[in-house]
Amino acid sequence: MLDGGMASELEYLGADISGPLWSAHVLEDSPEKVVAVHRAYLEAGADCLLTASYQVSRLGYREFGLAEARADAALLRAVELACAARDGFKGRRILVAASLGPYGAALHDGSEYHGNYDLRLAELVRFHRERIEVLAESDADLLAFETLPSLAEARAVGEALEAWPELAVWLAFTCRNGREVAHGETLRECAAVAAGFPQTVAVGVNCTQPVWLPELIGELRAGSGLPIVVYPNSGEGWDAEARCWTGRSVPAEFGALAGQWYAAGAQLVGGCCRTRPEHIRQIALAALGRN
Ligand SMILES: [Zn+2]
Repeated sequence: MLDGGMASELEYLGADISGPLWSAHVLEDSPEKVVAVHRAYLEAGADCLLTASYQVSRLGYREFGLAEARADAALLRAVELACAARDGFKGRRILVAASLGPYGAALHDGSEYHGNYDLRLAELVRFHRERIEVLAESDADLLAFETLPSLAEARAVGEALEAWPELAVWLAFTCRNGREVAHGETLRECAAVAAGFPQTVAVGVNCTQPVWLPELIGELRAGSGLPIVVYPNSGEGWDAEARCWTGRSVPAEFGALAGQWYAAGAQLVGGCCRTRPEHIRQIALAALGRN
């Protein structure tokens, strides 16, 4: 069982995540809040923590006149904070997955949701390699490439990983319907390509509307024989014009859906945007119901 959303939970704890680096600066300003969110998810039953580093990259820091070394330090700091939270739960087997957002997340213009980037493949590979190089030396159990919008970016991740065959990673894609990733390629093809990298231990879907999950899990199964990881959004919708979330999410309903995702073949289940510890608690109940 994975954890749920980090940024929205930090907001509930009073952290200001409105800045361009989103939750990244909380790593420096209020590390105790990051640890508190991790703890809340472990208490809810999560077995795997995603670090608060989704938005951290040299590129993102550079754009705001911040030293690249500070981005590298923030990546390592995020892993340390997750490990610190884990230390409070001795006797349980808990994995720490280093969260790595796509190139579009560093641009903070929402372009991870269409994947139309204006840059050459070599630059995309470099963007990913810079972070892999830092995290390869960390205590993270695996690297989680998240919200990948396109086949091209998945290929870039594979190329960036080449120098580190011993790492374990998963690749999770953001999808626009029950068949296609945000940029339009089929999830089936993306999963097949991602599963071909020697480091890949799971393929999956995140930051996607939960309604598409049953179909998407079928696509993942058709594309690869690897374990399947799914952590969709809460089910609320993002109104881009009004810049706010609409609708509401009922954790018990999310848990019931999670039961269907397990039944459809997903092995690792959690939540992305707007999911909270109560959603994870409900997934735990759904998982128990299967045993
Ligand atoms: Zn999300």
